[in-house]
Amino acid sequence: MEHLWWKPQSLRNKITWPLSPIGQGPRVKILIVLATKNPHKIKEIQAILGKEFNFRLLSDYIDFEIKETGRTLLENSLIKAAFTFKVSNLPSLADDSGLFIEALGGEPGIYSSRYGKNDEERINIVLHKLSGIKDRRAKFRAVYVYYCGPDNYEVFEGECSGRITETARGKNGFGYDPIFIPDGYKKTFAELGPTIKNRISHRARALKDFKIYLNRKKTSGI
Ligand code: IMP
Repeated sequence: MEHLWWKPQSLRNKITWPLSPIGQGPRVKILIVLATKNPHKIKEIQAILGKEFNFRLLSDYIDFEIKETGRTLLENSLIKAAFTFKVSNLPSLADDSGLFIEALGGEPGIYSSRYGKNDEERINIVLHKLSGIKDRRAKFRAVYVYYCGPDNYEVFEGECSGRITETARGKNGFGYDPIFIPDGYKKTFAELGPTIKNRISHRARALKDFKIYLNRKKTSGI
């Protein structure tokens, strides 16, 4: 494991901060450290946030598994964001997300990534538990924390309601995408593909608010 502190210092020289208000001077990119290691999530976050942002990953600094010991998505997200900030000393963005199924009392919920040993097993467990059950309502939830210090963080939440299929369908995305049909559609997230998913997902909704927040900050010059 490499030394923690030289890298953040060297990166600090590259911080594009403070931001110039929109319309005043060149548009600078916002540098954010992402807490997640999940390559699918990273791809989605980058696609949703777009070109105004420069990203670093926590794994650029340290090889470390953050234990999700919280009892809620918010607690886990806060743990990850605070740790990432401590290591990088840069604005950090973390999320915790999960699938909440009505007929299973909210399972798998915060245990979504630990419900089985891989995506296929997790999907099979859900489909097995729901076999014979008519009520297939479910929602994805995501809680993002943008962390710039212990007294300086913001929370952004997003939800996407839908239902669970009888069988897995589609090849795109990750996790439970092949068994989740968002409201208003007939196809699963894995069939719909990234363009639609990144417009309507729990992640897209939370990050839309995050972008609005950052733009307000920019225009107010705070
Ligand atoms: P964590 O937020 O990294 O703890 O993991 C959340 C888990 O919830 C993932 O590993 C997936 O199993 C599931 N999940 C969260 N968001 C999505 C999504 O957009 N599609 C499919 N599964 C998701």
